[in-house]
Amino acid sequence: MLQFQSVGLSYGATRALDAVDLRIEPGEQVCLIGPSGAGKSSLLGLMNGRLSASDGAVCLNGEDLGRLSGKSLKEARAGIAWVPQDLGLVPNLRVNQNIACGRAARKGLLGILKSLLVMGKGEKEEIAALLRRVGIEEKIFSRVDHLSGGQQQRVAIARALYQNPHIILADEPVSAVDPERAKSLVGLLTSLAREEEKTLVMSLHDVSLARRYFDRVIGMREGQIVMDGRPDEIGLEDLYRLD
Ligand code: ADP
Repeated sequence: MLQFQSVGLSYGATRALDAVDLRIEPGEQVCLIGPSGAGKSSLLGLMNGRLSASDGAVCLNGEDLGRLSGKSLKEARAGIAWVPQDLGLVPNLRVNQNIACGRAARKGLLGILKSLLVMGKGEKEEIAALLRRVGIEEKIFSRVDHLSGGQQQRVAIARALYQNPHIILADEPVSAVDPERAKSLVGLLTSLAREEEKTLVMSLHDVSLARRYFDRVIGMREGQIVMDGRPDEIGLEDLYRLD
């Protein structure tokens, strides 16, 4: 369970988040929406311990992430997959190698180097099965920079699942793609997360995608949560007023 207790975050003089209270239960699928600068990326950054709260507490399963360090922070973060806006793939590595990097936090540098140099049969099979689920099994040995944008997004999703996280965080993963492709990718990520009972928190710009694929939508504006609920309960007009 993820819990924010009166969380504030400042970057110097900029107050990015203010008095945020929030609770996300295991297996929930949550969409963050709001205009640019509302604080969505900051909220996601706090959820995986990449950023530290300036005040209040961010707790993961009852543990204050801000008080963890070293090995315990690393362990907590290993259970949280991060799909950044730019996908964070290594362009000149092959698809299977990029996906193997999903276990970097668990295996350490030496373990990952070994996987990259001589990947075991079991690992290769596991990666092939994941690629089948995201629909690009035939690309397993392709270099990532030879793939289309949509295929790269599927690699990033497969890498996140390969990490075997409890929580998947995705920061506007479809901001740079056309509406049809965005729909299929958000549909894919939400259905995979649902099947595997993972918690999913995704920020999106497109309110219609939020309505279509999520039961819970959190609307943000100027560093605060201004609405939180089922998209049909919150009301379309209110959602659109955020843009
Ligand atoms: P969103 O993801 O909704 O666009 P962000 O969390 O990126 O919002 O930003 C929230 C606020 O914090 C904005 O005013 C933004 O300019 C500011 N901000 C974000 N990151 C930084 C940073 N690294 N340094 C200074 N200000 C930042």
